[in-house]
Amino acid sequence: MKKIGVYTSGGDSPGMNAAIRAVVRSGIASGVEVIGIRGGYSGMIEGHFDSLNLRSVANIIQRGGTFLKTGRSSEFLKTQGRSAAAEQLKKESIEGLICIGGDGSFRGARALFLEHQIAVVGIPGTIDNDLFGTDTTIGFDTAVNTALDAIDKIRDTAAAHDRVFIIEVMGRNTGHIAAMAGLAGGAEEVFAPDVGFSIEKSVDRIKLAQSRGKMSSILVAAEGHKAGRVYDLAEQIRRKSGLDPKVCILGHQQRGGAPSASDRVLASRLGAAAVAALLAGQKDIMLGTEGLKIISVPFEIATSKEKPTSKELLNLVSVLAN
Ligand code: ADP
Repeated sequence: MKKIGVYTSGGDSPGMNAAIRAVVRSGIASGVEVIGIRGGYSGMIEGHFDSLNLRSVANIIQRGGTFLKTGRSSEFLKTQGRSAAAEQLKKESIEGLICIGGDGSFRGARALFLEHQIAVVGIPGTIDNDLFGTDTTIGFDTAVNTALDAIDKIRDTAAAHDRVFIIEVMGRNTGHIAAMAGLAGGAEEVFAPDVGFSIEKSVDRIKLAQSRGKMSSILVAAEGHKAGRVYDLAEQIRRKSGLDPKVCILGHQQRGGAPSASDRVLASRLGAAAVAALLAGQKDIMLGTEGLKIISVPFEIATSKEKPTSKELLNLVSVLAN
């Protein structure tokens, strides 16, 4: 392989820039030209290609977002869109791709491989950490720390006023950020979309804690929680308990900011490993981690289901809240 392409797609996450930098610099070190594809699959269809050199990726390791931009493309969901993208890649003589994104982006990458035999290696970049087959994803650690910083601050005011707070964090289908930030922040309860819950039990727990002299409580809810949005959850608790929970929605700030050291290191390792995998002839796979090891997971498996929220972490939250 003489020329490879790299793109970011779907939701952005802190550390994507560090991954692009690692792809470009280790690609050039291995003697291949690296083309940056701007704007994800839309840019691929439209041929928004730039040759990247060592200096193109200077001073970005510490920046959130993605300098290549990202996006969602309805055109790419159609076979004609993917054919147009394959045509552009052929015209530019791009022989292999590195896709930095989430499960949707990998489904697109797999379709490109199956229909046009274009080799793609995926790097998991999503704050949600919901990709099946990898312990962690680029951006998750940073997002957890952003949520934790907010939880710590809210805890101060909750304690000062003896209040119950519900903090909504991102996570539409799973509650990885909620579980991790909740445990690290000493939350009383974590609500995850893929785990059952009982408002009655939550209320009993808060009341029991109050009877023991614990007058403030922090509850962390993932946005896709089954009770509805966090205001609905607060209303249900209000009705059942007579308490007046305050609500704080963290929102998109969890997507941004300087990547944590661990996300930068993860992105750098996965970026270099993705180039090595592509040059070794691997295709149709996502790279991930198992403990400290880098592993490869077929796209078919990585996109087959979402990684569920850890019950072990949720149980620990309950035990330690007592
Ligand atoms: P993420 O990668 O963060 O999960 P999305 O689910 O929005 O983000 O997917 C990003 C893009 O990947 C979509 O806009 C679409 O262009 C492409 N994509 C997603 N699913 C498929 C699919 N089943 N087939 C082809 N392309 C897809």
